[in-house]
Amino acid sequence: MSQRIFHHYSGTDPEFKDYSETWYFMGKIKGINLKNNVRIGFTNIKDRNVAGYCNYGLFFNEIDIDRAHWKQSNSWEKMNVVFHELTHCGCGRDHGYVVNGEKGEYLDTRKHLGSRGFFNDLCPKSLMFPQVLDSSCFQTHFEWYIDEMFEQCKPN
Ligand SMILES: [Zn+2]
Repeated sequence: MSQRIFHHYSGTDPEFKDYSETWYFMGKIKGINLKNNVRIGFTNIKDRNVAGYCNYGLFFNEIDIDRAHWKQSNSWEKMNVVFHELTHCGCGRDHGYVVNGEKGEYLDTRKHLGSRGFFNDLCPKSLMFPQVLDSSCFQTHFEWYIDEMFEQCKPN
């Protein structure tokens, strides 16, 4: 995929605003202020397993959200996708987790009991798991995820 020289979107679609504003608000509380807000728009992503995508541009980062995926998602899943992509695009985080200040990688979507990257209930310890989490995981560990997603954030 080639880097974008121009924005595809003129702003963030209102559909995403509740979620993105929440992310920015919580980031500010943690002292994270982005130089540039990340625009988010709808597109059709060919890969059916992909719900969203962060485009790292030369001058800006911009998020694509798959329209079909969004339509069939509940509000937890929607929040998950927007938070996940903003953590890529806004914080420069890769797929992985930070536990006690230490980074770990998620190389695939397999779950490992006993791994530092997972809780005992097999919920991943980060929204930066490479897959949308079960809503039950998101609800159960909500506070943890909100905290973890701003760990080692390098604001764009
Ligand atoms: Zn991702």
